[in-house]
Amino acid sequence: MSLRAFIEQMGKENQISHVRDQVSTKFEIPYFMKAFDKDGPILLFENVKEHNSSVITNVCGTRQRICTALGADQARLYSRLTEAWQSPRKPAVISDGACKENHEKEVNLNTIPILMHFEGDAGPYVTSGIVHAKSSDGKIENVSIHRLQVLDEKHLAIRLVPRHLFKLWNMAKETGKGLDVAISIGVHPALLLAASSRVPFGVSEFDVANVLLDNNLRLTECENVDAYAPAEAELVLEGRISAAKEVLEGPFVDITGTHDVQRKQPVVEIVHVTHRSDYVYEGLLPSGAEHKLLMGLPHEALIWESVSKVVPKVHMVNLSIGGCGWLHAVVSIEKQVDGDGKNALLAAFAAHPSVKHVVVVDSDIDVFDASDVEWALATRFQAGEDLIVLEGVRGSTLDSSANQETGLTSKMGIDATRPFTKPKGKFERAKIPVNKRVETMVRKLTNV
Ligand code: MN
Repeated sequence: MSLRAFIEQMGKENQISHVRDQVSTKFEIPYFMKAFDKDGPILLFENVKEHNSSVITNVCGTRQRICTALGADQARLYSRLTEAWQSPRKPAVISDGACKENHEKEVNLNTIPILMHFEGDAGPYVTSGIVHAKSSDGKIENVSIHRLQVLDEKHLAIRLVPRHLFKLWNMAKETGKGLDVAISIGVHPALLLAASSRVPFGVSEFDVANVLLDNNLRLTECENVDAYAPAEAELVLEGRISAAKEVLEGPFVDITGTHDVQRKQPVVEIVHVTHRSDYVYEGLLPSGAEHKLLMGLPHEALIWESVSKVVPKVHMVNLSIGGCGWLHAVVSIEKQVDGDGKNALLAAFAAHPSVKHVVVVDSDIDVFDASDVEWALATRFQAGEDLIVLEGVRGSTLDSSANQETGLTSKMGIDATRPFTKPKGKFERAKIPVNKRVETMVRKLTNV
């Protein structure tokens, strides 16, 4: 139940492209990542300039690979996630883990192949690290993913949006202390998905991951900080988020593919580094498909769950790649009465506060096909009746067009389900009758 085991499985399925030429962590590896972003293979960089470790990227770059990692098909994926959220289970803690095979004598972040992604970025950034921390009484644990800017050999700036880790950091600050963290890099995809899930404060995302991994997750306690790491993580940075020290973090290209604004953010001092022998560093391209899928998928499940409470049947949810996997949702439903479409819109907005535009369609529309969704808009939607506009709502600070200080934004909901006031036949796609003979002829021709 490690990244290593998953990579091995993917290798057997021919899903890995090996890059054996020497490449640099600065822009060169990210350029490959971008070039292979759309439905691309996993990339393994075996010869990284000035580093001994290899770099693996795009592990969770397709829906299919994420489904394989979770042992669920697309139809079962949402229920698999929601079941894990609802019944989290504590993983076993072992004293020794593979992640402790090697202890670095001295902390030097420059020896790790951390990637510099985009022109204009403030520096190299760790983008695939899962951060574990707990409250001083040990009762509350949290695991989440944060972008981490390399400041020097021993320090990172951490972007803390006002959510759970931010809260734990504030709780620690009230007692005049910093917050111990374990930053684990190179973990099984289930851990990345769990860490991206929006479970309530107090639920450990490790417990969620453990359910997704069928109770096979093992944790190990860090030796220099009060935090845990997955025993089979490739690399663990043990650190402490300073109670007082803040720096200007960024600029950094985030999920929208544009530069996020600079903000004052806390500093993490790395006190110790451990790793597996021959560790592989995991890179994750900001705004790449993998970034969008990992952030988006758990929120698709949240929307699916929420809309399921107001209409009897929700087919599929897509936080589309064009919408940054974050700001645009398309939801297909089985509508029972007029008004269901709008209720579904409101439920989707409530489930994912960052979402800006939601389109609700009937179940005959493929939410993953932008052209099909556009067809629904063209033939089933009347702006005067089917459009909802909400002003001054909390949205995403990542959206350049929103007020990035307050997070306030305008939202739009589009009900593109067919109205029940007109005959169904007016909205159905016309069919051409076909017999077996012609069907076979066409199939042969399209297979050539
Ligand atoms: Mn949390």
